Amino acid sequence: MMETENGAGDRGGTRPDNGTGTARGAWLVYLLAGFALVVVYYLTPVRADGFPVRVVLYSLLSGSAAVAVGAGAARARRGDRLPWALIAVSQATYFTADAVFYVSHYTFGITAFPSWADVFYLGHYLPAALGLLLLIRRRAPGRDLPGLLDAGTLAVVAAMLSWVYLIGPQSRRDAPVLVELASVGYPVMDLVLLTVALGLLLGAGARPKAFFLLVGWLALILTADTIYVAQQVTGTYAAGNYLDAIWLTGNLLLGASALHPTMGRVSERAQVHEGPLNPIRIALLSGVALLAPAVLLAQYFSGALRDIPVVAGACALLFLLTITRLAILVSDQRRLAITDVLTGLHTRRFFEAQLPLEMARARRSGGSVAVLIVDVDHFKSINDRYGHPAGDGVLVEIAARLRSTVRGGEVLVRYGGEEFALIVPNAELDSLAVLADRLREQVASAPIVVTQQRWVAVTVSIGTARYPTHGTSPAELVAIADRALYSAKAAGRDRVVVASDSNPEVPEEQERPEPHGTDYLHLVADAVDDLLDDHGHSRAVARWARMLAHEFGYDSDLVRRTELAGRLHDVGKILLPRSVLVKPGRLDEDEWELVRKHPEHGFRMTSLLPGHLGVAHVIRQHHERWDGRGYPDRMAGRDIRVEARIVAVCDSWAAMRSQRPYQAALSADQAREEIRAARGTQFDPDVADLFLRLHDRGAIADLHLVHRGPS
Ligand code: GH3
Ligand code: MG
Ligand code: MG
Repeated sequence: MMETENGAGDRGGTRPDNGTGTARGAWLVYLLAGFALVVVYYLTPVRADGFPVRVVLYSLLSGSAAVAVGAGAARARRGDRLPWALIAVSQATYFTADAVFYVSHYTFGITAFPSWADVFYLGHYLPAALGLLLLIRRRAPGRDLPGLLDAGTLAVVAAMLSWVYLIGPQSRRDAPVLVELASVGYPVMDLVLLTVALGLLLGAGARPKAFFLLVGWLALILTADTIYVAQQVTGTYAAGNYLDAIWLTGNLLLGASALHPTMGRVSERAQVHEGPLNPIRIALLSGVALLAPAVLLAQYFSGALRDIPVVAGACALLFLLTITRLAILVSDQRRLAITDVLTGLHTRRFFEAQLPLEMARARRSGGSVAVLIVDVDHFKSINDRYGHPAGDGVLVEIAARLRSTVRGGEVLVRYGGEEFALIVPNAELDSLAVLADRLREQVASAPIVVTQQRWVAVTVSIGTARYPTHGTSPAELVAIADRALYSAKAAGRDRVVVASDSNPEVPEEQERPEPHGTDYLHLVADAVDDLLDDHGHSRAVARWARMLAHEFGYDSDLVRRTELAGRLHDVGKILLPRSVLVKPGRLDEDEWELVRKHPEHGFRMTSLLPGHLGVAHVIRQHHERWDGRGYPDRMAGRDIRVEARIVAVCDSWAAMRSQRPYQAALSADQAREEIRAARGTQFDPDVADLFLRLHDRGAIADLHLVHRGPS
């Protein structure tokens, strides 16, 4: 008998440590054997040959449940043992009560009520209630207030009914004190157990099969107990009647619950904190609460208005419980309305409520408020390549990174799909860029996992504006920050733009900055990287190349030129036919011929810009080889410009370290080996050595770690 999983809350996470000790089907064998014995119990005459076989059968059954729960407690996880151990103690006490009852009843013919057996019967409730309480606490640590209130509502009604129909009549019968105590004790104890049972049933937590077996035990025991007390009151109870079947079945369910493979999950922490207030629960709660006026009416029409104080008290309690429940519900709804489900951040609705408040406060105190709008760069391509769920995961991580930089008093929200917004009270104009850059860098600090073994480098662009410098109304401030964001996108992304403090009312067309020629080439470089599915490639090459040039001690002009050449080395590829550029398979010789033209294309594109001839030459030479076998001009050794020799190593490293359609990424060790092997043939040995040395020092962060906007 294999156990099937039980749906909700079962993803990943901890598995119960079942299997040890007990076979998976043990619970069913136990249950079926138990039922068979119950049948035998009823088929057995009360006395066979003067020997009470029934007593033995009954005790065997209720005792077996104690043993089963004890065994369950022993194999439970350390922290989960106590609740089950308490329930086992309760069941053992119950077994003792049964034994005492039947021995005195059948063997000695004692039928007095109460008897010694009742001491044990009454005594078994408390450990059970305690054990269940511990289970509830474990299932919903902290507090599960709605569940508690619902259980409280039902318990209040049960207490009222119990008082009116069981406890009250008992206490009014002029019975001897002991009889009265015992017969009032049962309904009271049952009430305690019922309250806890309702707490378990209505509270949060996993509901595996073992849970339902446990709840079944409680339901049967409580039902039988209630009927038992009613029969005692009316004097119709006869030992061995059908109630035994209910009690015994209850016992068997308890034993089966402890033996069930899902027993460990009963005490697992709840995944979802509280369920919604569903229609069934509303109907149940209100139906039950209406019993209070119903009782009052019944007494009114029967002419015996005896319990008005009790019922009135119950009504008052029910009223308070209902109001509290509603108040919690309302505040939960409000929280949900301003909380984004995906990222857990506040929503745009909250932002729009908060910004006017912050601005009004700033106006009164002469302070300021900054608004930052953060938009993820090329987010659509992440969705396109890895799917929407992976995109969601990336958004969650970005939100977490942004949140980690937010300080007290600042308000971070998810403004739209892949846009976030931040309100910063009292931000100085000079600090806006720094502030925004902190966010940008935090997001770009490390690649984000999308699927197993796959990372993406993610960057954001940020536009920011400040009250009172740039705008005076919330809408205006947001619009201006948004325009600054637009400028950041237009200027190449992965950067921050602070709104210019000139007249913010200029028409949009004039407000956009006139992009510089190199800005266009940066865009082209990014476009090529994107086409090749190699985002961030040229930025990485630029950064490493600058680092090497700097390390060699070259002057700042040469360092800057090396960096720029690294950034733009592949722009010429934009002129290649798409079919060649993104061809999945290997290229044939004609296609290679075309590809080898890209340094010349790059040269032509770059040299057109005033003052960029030097960079253009470097770009032309970045596929030349130290041994003279490169292209396009078969230059060799130190004839090749040092900037190009540097870019060549960095470019190869980046290519080797990233996934290509025709080749998996090399490990760092493999790539190092390739560089070492090619020193003196493909690469300038000094450049290759320096690169490896820097890599050794950890200065060559992995490909996606080097995402920074060109400053
Ligand atoms: P850029 O901002 O750099 O111009 O490019 P982009 O690709 O990020 O811009 P665009 O606004 O065109 O695309 C935004 C994409 O974000 C489109 C939409 O599919 C995606 N998106 C929006 N909300 C969600 C979301 O909740 N989950 C996922 N996975 N994607 C989302
Ligand atoms: Mg967008
Ligand atoms: Mg975007």
